[in-house]
Amino acid sequence: MEFQNYINGKWVKGRKTFQTINPANEALLADIAQAEISDVDLAVDAAKKAFPSWRFTPAPLRGEMLYKVGDLLKQKKEELAQLLTRDMGKVIAEARGDVQEAIDMAYFMGGEGRRLLGYTAPVEMPNKFGMAVRDPAGVVGLITPWNFPVAVPSWKIFPALIAGNTIIWKPSPETPAISAAFVKVFEDAGLPPGVFNLLMAPGADVGRALVEHPEVRVLSFTGSTTTGRAIAGAAARLNKKVSLEMGGKNAIIVMDDANLELVADATLWAAFGTTGQRCTAASRLIVQKGIAGRVKEALVERTKKLKLGDGLDPNVDVGPVINKVALERIHNYVQIGQKEGARVLVGASTADVGGKGFFYAPTLFDGVKPGSTLEAEEIFGPVLSIIEVESLEEAIEVNNRSKYGLSTSIFTQDINRAFTAMRDIFTGLVYVNHGTTGAEIQFPFGGVRGTGNGHREAGQAALEVFTEWKSIYVDYSGKLQRAQIDNRKE
Ligand code: NAD
Repeated sequence: MEFQNYINGKWVKGRKTFQTINPANEALLADIAQAEISDVDLAVDAAKKAFPSWRFTPAPLRGEMLYKVGDLLKQKKEELAQLLTRDMGKVIAEARGDVQEAIDMAYFMGGEGRRLLGYTAPVEMPNKFGMAVRDPAGVVGLITPWNFPVAVPSWKIFPALIAGNTIIWKPSPETPAISAAFVKVFEDAGLPPGVFNLLMAPGADVGRALVEHPEVRVLSFTGSTTTGRAIAGAAARLNKKVSLEMGGKNAIIVMDDANLELVADATLWAAFGTTGQRCTAASRLIVQKGIAGRVKEALVERTKKLKLGDGLDPNVDVGPVINKVALERIHNYVQIGQKEGARVLVGASTADVGGKGFFYAPTLFDGVKPGSTLEAEEIFGPVLSIIEVESLEEAIEVNNRSKYGLSTSIFTQDINRAFTAMRDIFTGLVYVNHGTTGAEIQFPFGGVRGTGNGHREAGQAALEVFTEWKSIYVDYSGKLQRAQIDNRKE
């Protein structure tokens, strides 16, 4: 099977191909046409040509097109979810959730077609009118990671399209098969040629060329902090708007009064769901001393029962990690943790699941010190570090000290503690009595410090990235009226 790039409404072969494999069994999944730097020019030209007519398509009609994409995604949900699991490994229930997020986003942003709100405000002169409206930015470049190969791109694609932009999307080379299948849905829905272009390639060259192309005015990136910073540097030199969603080191705070059963269930899901490869995965458990022993006991017991395997098996709890490099990186962090004095409660090794695939045993570390490597660095795998604290204040202090700032949750039944935490936790997402994962698409999504650069995805906030404000003044007085001057006596 071969998946191809999509440029100007046509599926395009490459001079070369690369391969994508199933991380659960290392079997070849598909050959992929490899885009080259020259394809970036072709895709940008196509997007530029398509821009005027897409921009002038009334936004409610653009919205109807997105509804159609949503309808088709619903019809194809199972087929896409199965391919997604085979391409990146997450368990099938989560793959369905990944596709569902795109369906939700299609309908949410489809609705924006009848809103895309600007505003009017009183003006200071008589016989004059003022309003602020949103313009599309033009040709936009979207660069995405592999861990949510449908959901994360959908947070960018749908707001960009509803706002009237045309797109070049460069997905991760780890998940090209599901990316091409996702684009096919837009084609089937009747999106005009050139509005949405897909370029797939390993390495950084094609992404870099997209970032640097002078006609691409807005960039939206999700991925590692290292890559995000490189893109931000290039974008700054070229005076481009860039939205960055990057790494995380998310924490669950557990107070002495928390519901123990709930803490154990929620922590397991937040730490080991998607094999710990979520930007919002819980990788720190900051627990108050009085309850720490019972929490550890419950977690160890539950962690040992997790079933690893191929995500297509509905009885499997934890799938593989994305590739061999990730497996080695995770194990390297685990070894550093042990060297730095943290104690393994469970896991800490690769797991043998039929001799194939990239499996790592869900791992719990106890006695992790604030500031140590395990506590500070994003591991992006099934590793949870337990840190004990005396008080809520200390827990918040440890949480906020992280160089990342995406998601934090607190478990407590005390409303005063909950509100104090909501006020003082400094991350883009805060959960009370729920783990660190599970964002819904109608609210802004993103993080502070090393996680982001001040933009947000999802919700109406996403429109800020993909539109430019235009303020319009209409003077119908028939004479010169000088604002700030002619209406003042002094
Ligand atoms: P990555 O940074 O390696 O790659 C992301 C994308 O950037 C890929 O498509 C890649 O091909 C491309 N790329 C690489 N170098 C480039 C360059 N120099 N110029 C342009 N493009 C380039 O990240 P990844 O391993 O795919 O994803 C994992 C990371 O993503 C984790 O750090 C995770 O926390 C983060 N993530 C963050 C969020 C969030 O919303 N904050 C969501 C999901 C994942």
